[in-house]
Amino acid sequence: MSENPSVAVIGGGLAGLATAVALGSAGRPVTVFESRPFLGGRATSYPLNTADEAGPTIDNCQHVLLRCCTNLLDFYRRLGVADRIHFYRDFYWIEPGGRTSVMRRGLLPAPLHFTESFAKLRFLSLRDKMSVASGLLSVKYEYGKRTDLDRITMLDWLREKGQTPALIDRFWRQVLVSAINEELDRMAAIHGLQVFYLGFLAKADGYEMGVPAVPLGELYSEKAWSRYEDVRFRFRAPVQQVRIENGSVSGIEVNGERVVADAYVLAVPFERVAALAPGIELDLSSFTHSPITGIHLWFDRPVTDLPHATLLDRTIQWMFNKHEGRHIQLVVSASRSLTDMPRAEVIELALNELKEFFPKAAEAQLERAHVVKEVRATFSAGPGIEEKRPVSRTTIPNLFLAGDWTRSGWPATMEGSVRSGYLAAEAVQEYLGQRQHFLLPEIA
Ligand SMILES: Cc1cc2nc3c(=O)[nH]c(=O)nc-3n(C[C@H](O)[C@H](O)[C@H](O)COP(=O)(O)OP(=O)(O)OC[C@H]3O[C@@H](n4cnc5c(N)ncnc54)[C@H](O)[C@@H]3O)c2cc1C
Repeated sequence: MSENPSVAVIGGGLAGLATAVALGSAGRPVTVFESRPFLGGRATSYPLNTADEAGPTIDNCQHVLLRCCTNLLDFYRRLGVADRIHFYRDFYWIEPGGRTSVMRRGLLPAPLHFTESFAKLRFLSLRDKMSVASGLLSVKYEYGKRTDLDRITMLDWLREKGQTPALIDRFWRQVLVSAINEELDRMAAIHGLQVFYLGFLAKADGYEMGVPAVPLGELYSEKAWSRYEDVRFRFRAPVQQVRIENGSVSGIEVNGERVVADAYVLAVPFERVAALAPGIELDLSSFTHSPITGIHLWFDRPVTDLPHATLLDRTIQWMFNKHEGRHIQLVVSASRSLTDMPRAEVIELALNELKEFFPKAAEAQLERAHVVKEVRATFSAGPGIEEKRPVSRTTIPNLFLAGDWTRSGWPATMEGSVRSGYLAAEAVQEYLGQRQHFLLPEIA
């Protein structure tokens, strides 16, 4: 092994970047191999039309975080970009017709911080609110204690708690399908309880929504990395093979070249692992995908002045105001119903629904529209999957795993990816004889 052993990270998504930032901060030489010409993986941005330099840059899809994403925020701090995340205290819920309710924290301490605004929500009856309150109380008592939460669905759990179908649809589903990117009948209850516990109950500001104020790609710019001299990047460098010989990785094949390091971190999506590292012996047969669809609409005039809102009772779940109320991004998580729908129909559906919530959209002219269908957006966080998620260490001593699908303690999110990257960095450091902690604890 060399005097200061080096690490090769395969994949420049958030998991690979978090591994690199952690190891780089420890003075470890790291090279990140990324098949594309830019960083960020699924959480990135690109010009809408590469031939039009003045044209808009769009995020692969709107990405948001909550203040309870402690490791993601630490990652942004380490890159010096934490101030580019704009946090919002107000959550807007809009019903078809335009009636709007706002949820925000008040003066009472957690877990009572929403009491005042919750009482004023207009889309739930008093009876519904009491039922939600009792459900939240059960979250508080069962999260971290009940042992079967990974084996039952969130829908089963909600039914067990006596939540009515209408209430499930208007409150629980509205929050969770976007947070976990899965339908309630396909989602392990453990993830649903985690969202409500960490986001809504544990700390008064845990729910605050962070929205990047710059295109996602700018968060991982060259300037951001300039403070990590030991971290290098190789772009357009798809790794074809992780060579495993005599029980350990002897090198990787990159564009026909053989590259050797002391440790290797494979930070690619789960569906790439078997082809890249056939000797790794992982059973990933239970993993499936859940899609997300993003719809960008550009109007000739503002259609809303709200920064964002969750839209009730329709296909579209979220609206984000990307620029002066004229560029709107709509998001549908677990969007199986849109996967096979022609793009023109998706745009028509989105436009029709938008008009129900924002009457100004009916008067405005649509100037441009763009649909992003991410069929492989995340893994489906169903019952039984948690125990199948592999940890960072593999059976091969110098090969480690990172990625939102590994056992990060979180579902497939940016926080989950960064957690997996920090865990992989800890495992690498231990292998190289230097125990070190990078993972920050949950807020609660
Ligand atoms: C549409 C959409 C919306 C989302 N919204 C949110 C949100 O609002 N909030 C949130 O927290 N999360 C959201 N997510 C989830 C989040 O984007 C992911 O969980 C996270 O970005 C995954 O990071 P990763 O590093 O694990 O994987 P990836 O981002 O997939 O990174 C893997 C990287 O490896 C590279 N690669 C693959 N094969 C090779 C190879 N052979 N050699 C070299 N490089 C290779 C890829 O190009 C890629 O850059 C969303 C995801 C999608 C798709």
